[in-house]
Amino acid sequence: MLKGKVAIVTGGTRGIGFEIVRKYLANGAKVVLFGSRQESVDRALQKLKEENSGWEVAGDHPCLTDAAEVERAVLAVKERFGRIDILVNNAGISQNTPLYDYTAEEFDKVIDLNVKAVFYAILPAAKIMREQGGGCIINTSSMVSISGQPAGVGYPASKFAVNGITISLARELGKDHIRVNAVAPGVTRTDMVAALPEATVKAISARIPLGRAGEPEEVANAFLYLASDLASYVTGEILSVDGASKA
Ligand code: NAD
Repeated sequence: MLKGKVAIVTGGTRGIGFEIVRKYLANGAKVVLFGSRQESVDRALQKLKEENSGWEVAGDHPCLTDAAEVERAVLAVKERFGRIDILVNNAGISQNTPLYDYTAEEFDKVIDLNVKAVFYAILPAAKIMREQGGGCIINTSSMVSISGQPAGVGYPASKFAVNGITISLARELGKDHIRVNAVAPGVTRTDMVAALPEATVKAISARIPLGRAGEPEEVANAFLYLASDLASYVTGEILSVDGASKA
């Protein structure tokens, strides 16, 4: 579905991002994953090479909250592979701090990675996409961008902003043949969720109409669809993959 396309996936070393990278590679794309540290990037690349030594995959670890570093890393992908067709902004952090315990620094940390880093990556990538005649950007939102959450207000605030970036840029960049969408996962079985006590996972699952948390691969399937030509007329969409959790 993605034969010959070149993709960047931020936060591609584990969890949902890692499954997106696998899915894209298995569908013929060349992928550069961005992680936070050299060791986690190397570990992810080794795992992928063990699965299929023919996959064209590389890694980098720019500081995503530094606009200049992100620009350098994005330009390096274009230098190496000649183009950038797909940018997936997936790296993100969440938190559950109650308002009365919040600090300004904590709020800034979430906004810096979940919002500003998305903008920093889009800036150079969109210019490259415009020059080459088009491309596609997919941001990782969350079901809390629709429902909010009862603590940790920085996280839903950041994902509401991601939706705002997505819908606005879809309108602005359509003329350049750049599609901009987001995927809004519900509770997904990544390390973050696996670390929760089984009883907590059970309680959360009981509230989900489909009766269970999602698997990272199920979320990655939405990223595959949105990146593919099957979604050639889909832009400005926030696609929920949440078992109807927020309904
Ligand atoms: P995860 O913690 O398993 O992975 C997060 C990824 O982001 C990792 O690859 C990590 O290296 C990267 N990352 C974190 N901080 C970074 C930094 N400062 N610089 C560079 N990279 C950094 O998380 P996940 O559950 O796979 O989440 C991925 C995305 O999905 C996030 O945007 C998250 O908000 C969103 N999401 C997750 C869930 C869920 O239930 N897991 C639900 C809704 C939305």
